[in-house]
Amino acid sequence: MFSTTHFPKALKYWHEGKFYNWPDAHVHPMAHALHYGSSVFEGIRAYSTARGPAIFRLDEHVDRFLHSASVARMPVPYHKEKIVEIIKLVLRENKLESAYIRPLLFFAYGNLGLVPKYCPVEMIVGTWEWDAYLGEKAANGVGVYIVPWRRVHFSQLDMRAKLGGFYIQSTIVGLQARGQGCDEAVFLNIEGRVAEGPGENIFIFKDGVLKTNDMSESILEGITRGSLLEIARDLGIKTKIGPIEKEEFLTAEEAFFSGTAVEVVPITHITDGSDPADQPVKYSIGSGTPGPVTARLRNAYLDIVQGKIKAHEKWLTFING
Ligand code: PMP
Repeated sequence: MFSTTHFPKALKYWHEGKFYNWPDAHVHPMAHALHYGSSVFEGIRAYSTARGPAIFRLDEHVDRFLHSASVARMPVPYHKEKIVEIIKLVLRENKLESAYIRPLLFFAYGNLGLVPKYCPVEMIVGTWEWDAYLGEKAANGVGVYIVPWRRVHFSQLDMRAKLGGFYIQSTIVGLQARGQGCDEAVFLNIEGRVAEGPGENIFIFKDGVLKTNDMSESILEGITRGSLLEIARDLGIKTKIGPIEKEEFLTAEEAFFSGTAVEVVPITHITDGSDPADQPVKYSIGSGTPGPVTARLRNAYLDIVQGKIKAHEKWLTFING
């Protein structure tokens, strides 16, 4: 029996046209994806609004999902509209108001050669209530650990794809950072500049400018990142897209993570462990507490996802009509 301790309010997941009770699992242990990470996935959030649950930027998430599948050379048995419909259905079936939604496409049971010649591509969609990704206290700021492993370079994999196996690197550094007493990891890229978190993008604020990097720095350009850049411009905050040197990060006035799961989380401390030959050194960002620009953007983002800003309703898919 599988417990829902870490999947609050999960009732049923969808797999290939049917709903299953959450504790009932039936994917075979020899499924290709379990062995080689031959899967692609999305992380989507829905929020409670005055008009019922709404999914944030569903269209963009499903587009990315299908792009990931094409990168993984998966013949997807569903078209976009069908996937959208299934995601809404899963949310309704679980009677959730605010939720994290996890669609997954994977090479299933067939053969175990690296080439999944006889493995069908199957889809699963699960949803549950996933509160603050880095814990309730994360809103007060988190401490990050710059890990020695460098982010996979954009020339090695398509960084716009969310490929299951690719995330083993994120898991490894996430564990490493926590082993160092920090809340989350930060990757440098092969060039030695700041890349991203294991599942988050990074913004810094300094000298009146909000800055984030792009794909040429070996990051996944997140949907939250794009939304925040638009929100910042609307708020009259000057933005810049370009490489972030490690020194710039360490001396920023403010810094924060962005992502669907994490939303907007202030980074208030950085431990630089990027050179395994050196002792890690700890830095505070600004005064070591969340800064005003981060707070403004975080509040604006949370208002938007909860449907409180009319002009941004275009980013929401209301599931009850
Ligand atoms: N970078 C990585 C590696 C991620 O996995 C994610 C989460 N999808 C992000 C950044 C943030 O992307 P988004 O804002 O689309 O969730």
